Amino acid sequence: MPDYDPNNIFAKIIRGELPCHKVYEDDRALVFLDIMPRAPGHALVIPKSPARNILDVAPDDLAHVAQIAQRVAKAGMRAFEADGVTVQQFNENAGGQVVFHLHVHVIPRKDGVPMKPAASYKEKPEVLAEQAKKLAAAMPSV
Ligand code: 5GP
Repeated sequence: MPDYDPNNIFAKIIRGELPCHKVYEDDRALVFLDIMPRAPGHALVIPKSPARNILDVAPDDLAHVAQIAQRVAKAGMRAFEADGVTVQQFNENAGGQVVFHLHVHVIPRKDGVPMKPAASYKEKPEVLAEQAKKLAAAMPSV
């Protein structure tokens, strides 16, 4: 497996070199909205540690990301009046990974509404800003 690239897009977002529509942050994780959402409220949960994917992340960081993903899933259910949540996580090219900093997709879903194809639609910044606010407000404390 290649080494972690510190110049990947999500590393730049963590360092504040690129903007994001932030939903949640603590000392070990960051949550922001996907710019090409597959459904409204599509969030990405990432560790702040430099992990390429599930194959090299420290188990404790992975556990923390999973805990935060659960909170984001609950928030998505409330904020987007969802009927369910899709959680996805891809590893290496063969596994469907495009950005090589570990991330968990948390996607609120409505009954009978298919997800948009990946990378098919870039959402307007003002819509993402509003949705990030809504999701942040719905985050449970634990
Ligand atoms: P994956 O690596 O899991 O296949 O997908 C990477 C995800 O990152 C895609 O859903 C894509 O829309 C999202 N993405 C790519 N570039 C950016 C970006 O600059 N900002 C944000 N917020 N999401 C991005």
